[in-house]
Amino acid sequence: MSSGSAIRGSRVGSSPMRPDERTEPAPRRLVNYFCAAGHDSGIWFAADAPAPDTWDCPRCGQPAGLDQQAPPGRLRAEPYKSHLAYVKERRSEEDGAAILEEALAKLRQRRGRV
Ligand SMILES: [Zn+2]
Repeated sequence: MSSGSAIRGSRVGSSPMRPDERTEPAPRRLVNYFCAAGHDSGIWFAADAPAPDTWDCPRCGQPAGLDQQAPPGRLRAEPYKSHLAYVKERRSEEDGAAILEEALAKLRQRRGRV
């Protein structure tokens, strides 16, 4: 039988009361998330827990995704053309053409007069 002091010493050295339960840490895995700002953040998840598709970037708070090539924030950053935008664009093109036509007509008129 070992002396009491030896038992006490081992207890102080290893703080967990039950080393047999504590020595094996819960299995974890590091999952990298990428945000549109170019941050890559390693987030630890329990190994048995499925990693979510998106995670808020700890640095900038934007949604970060698992795919570095396609972070979720980038989709928003891309210019999204609404139907109205298309209409406006076409409008301005038509207007531009009309204005050009008008200008040419005036030019021709002027040339004809002069
Ligand atoms: Zn970020």
